[in-house]
Amino acid sequence: MEEFFQHKQILLENDQKDFNFLSPTDIELQASQKFNWLKNDFLANFTIEEMLDYWDVKDSVIHTKLFEVLKKMPKGALLHIHSSTMMHSQEFIDFLKSDSQIYVQLIDEKIILLPNFIENSVPLSEFLKIDGNEKALLDSLEMTRGTSMGLPSERWIKFGQLFSTSAKLFSEKRFRENYFNLAYSQLYEDNIQRVEIRTNFGRTGYIDNGRILTIDEAAESFKTATDRFRSIHNDFSSGFIIACHKLLSRQKVIEAAEDALRLHLLYPDFILGFDIVGEEEQYNETEEIYECVYQVKSKAKENGQDFPMFFHAGEVVSKHAPTIYDAFVLESKRIGHGISLIKHPVLMQIAKTKKITIECCPISNMLLGYVRDLRVHAGLAYLNQGLSVAIGSDAPGLFGYRGVTHDWLWICILWGIDLMQVKRLVKNSIDGCTEPDETRRIWEPKWAEFVNYLANLEI
Ligand SMILES: [Zn+2]
Repeated sequence: MEEFFQHKQILLENDQKDFNFLSPTDIELQASQKFNWLKNDFLANFTIEEMLDYWDVKDSVIHTKLFEVLKKMPKGALLHIHSSTMMHSQEFIDFLKSDSQIYVQLIDEKIILLPNFIENSVPLSEFLKIDGNEKALLDSLEMTRGTSMGLPSERWIKFGQLFSTSAKLFSEKRFRENYFNLAYSQLYEDNIQRVEIRTNFGRTGYIDNGRILTIDEAAESFKTATDRFRSIHNDFSSGFIIACHKLLSRQKVIEAAEDALRLHLLYPDFILGFDIVGEEEQYNETEEIYECVYQVKSKAKENGQDFPMFFHAGEVVSKHAPTIYDAFVLESKRIGHGISLIKHPVLMQIAKTKKITIECCPISNMLLGYVRDLRVHAGLAYLNQGLSVAIGSDAPGLFGYRGVTHDWLWICILWGIDLMQVKRLVKNSIDGCTEPDETRRIWEPKWAEFVNYLANLEI
């Protein structure tokens, strides 16, 4: 009997050594006890089964003490979010109502929002006067239980339609600047120190009061909106990753990559690099678009220029989708999602050695049908195996929440992680962002203040 327990204890201790372990300070030990209490308190009100039914509980969990504490937690860098879906959809509608220049066009009964009048469009205020139209608009901006069912490929069809409802709004400078100001303030309230945002940034179609802008002028206006927010909140920063769609032609992808490289060289701290987006299993085989990007990157390298990549990859169920290899060949600095990476031991080892951060987006993965039960999500395995994994929210507006606190809540409960594992995930996000030193400098005192608050929390 004695021998059995000794052997088990040795295994347990050795296993702990392999974990992505952080030693707690005294105050963190006290805060950890409170954190465990908060998780137990949460589980006294919500069962695991209820947490698996996201739509049933996503609004009621906001009123729990654990959510309140996680919202206050300084989260470091949010490394995975898309520009047009950063805001809670109902709050987005309220924001649209405050702009008198928003118009609606119906194309085959689908709602398309516009930043200016065009023929056959009606003002948003007129459109919303008709009974049922506000609900129809909300359904055009947000997934529902009904649209988050079936295979991932079926869910992606609805997902793509939701993106297209508001896409045209972002061409107008006035709208874009006001939108980012509000979206940043919501992330700031979620205690995020830095955000690196994927954005679709095409060569044409940007306007300022009827005047067509060049892509450089459009980038400059993104920067102006960001600088304005930063001038008030100097403990927040942001940057953009230019994301082009994978179903574009070879020529269009080359143009997008060349634009991204040029803008990155012009604004290296603001335009951070390049990505390719879209459903991964819909692979554009004939065009071999990643090879096009490889050519642009190689040419930059010959000129002594670095062209950073931040690819979505491994957002699949099957092992055989090839994008994960493309991401490694192109030396992606981070991997967006990386769910299937666990099926590739050699790539996993490279990710660990090179400290390639995996941007894990738990709620997105659940709602798009890749991991229906987060208890078996690969992210926890990556964390335990010492890979750099960080938490992102992908498209919170489409999933009916804001910021990234919901993702933290779901993993704290369904992964059963403790406060030091939470801290490790936050530190990973900082190490994996493009401004780690400055973000860490801002985050550290906020973390010290947070653990002090948590340790002294009245429960
Ligand atoms: Zn994404």
